[in-house]
Amino acid sequence: MSLSTKCLLICGFIGSCMFSCRQNASAPQQKPVPPFLAEVQENITHLDSMLALPQTTSKLNYRDWEALANQLKVAHKEMNEANMTDWENRFHSQPQSLEDYVNAGPVRPYGKRQYIYVGKLGSFTAAQNNIFELTKIYLQAFYGVRVKYLDSIPLAQLQKDVRRRRNPHSKQEQLYSVHILERIMFPRLPDDAINYLLFTASDLYPGSNWNFVFGQANIQARVGVWSLYRYGDPDLSKEAFDLCLKRTLKTAVHETGHTFSIKHCTFYHCVMQGAYHLKEADERPQYVGPICLAKIGIACKPNPIHRFQQLHTFWSQLGFEEEADNYREFLSLLQRSLE
Ligand SMILES: [Zn+2]
Ligand SMILES: [Zn+2]
Repeated sequence: MSLSTKCLLICGFIGSCMFSCRQNASAPQQKPVPPFLAEVQENITHLDSMLALPQTTSKLNYRDWEALANQLKVAHKEMNEANMTDWENRFHSQPQSLEDYVNAGPVRPYGKRQYIYVGKLGSFTAAQNNIFELTKIYLQAFYGVRVKYLDSIPLAQLQKDVRRRRNPHSKQEQLYSVHILERIMFPRLPDDAINYLLFTASDLYPGSNWNFVFGQANIQARVGVWSLYRYGDPDLSKEAFDLCLKRTLKTAVHETGHTFSIKHCTFYHCVMQGAYHLKEADERPQYVGPICLAKIGIACKPNPIHRFQQLHTFWSQLGFEEEADNYREFLSLLQRSLE
């Protein structure tokens, strides 16, 4: 079956030549496991057992989430003409209010479609593997939806089906992302999947006139592929690992948000804002603003307090103080409003 390309979303990161030439990305290689990864591995084991999902979903309705969003607004920075992003200055996203979202009948866990699936394409280094594991744990806590693995796909399996090229500037080999979505992912989409996200360490391109792309999704087909290639080398140091992890988590929740029908955020400083380049993506927060939080609540029905607690635990366990503090603030605001 061939997929319509109408809903193809090349999200945020447009690989203009100038931008890409400033990148200092190098191909990931197998290296000895650095000592800091032992601690990460221990944290993964802890987090995996600490962040179990509750058996039941929240009973809050649309109005409850709207009220909850209003209570949290004080902790978030609004977007306005003066602080508009490069993405919005170029693309002028259509604002999607909470009401617009509900009226559009968003994608959500429904019937037998109850799981987010994640998988790997090609080989990963030790650090990249840890980032993949943490992304799975984080996505589950962020959306309150169970995340399952789908079998890894070796690059050799793409030989026949996926076009490749040498990047005209860097000469690095790149995979054609459209073929990965259409020929590799869509036929594998499980019956009980809400969506399927594939991570790769290979560089991607979405068309002959593009230099590269960080990721691409087909919203209609509920599949998306994302590359770690340009997020730095996480095996290099603890700092490089942390940066690559934060970028990957941001991409994962942003793109998963799109698969739950959440459009680019124009209201608040929010992980669902579009980003035109890596600097702009880095400037986005790791969290969603109040409007997008309410959208997640309506679609996925997480318990809001439990969700904030889990996300606080995640960041705190990994030693990210700023991110942990953000969730501590949200949690305390929410708890006060419920007293
Ligand atoms: Zn996007
Ligand atoms: Zn938002």
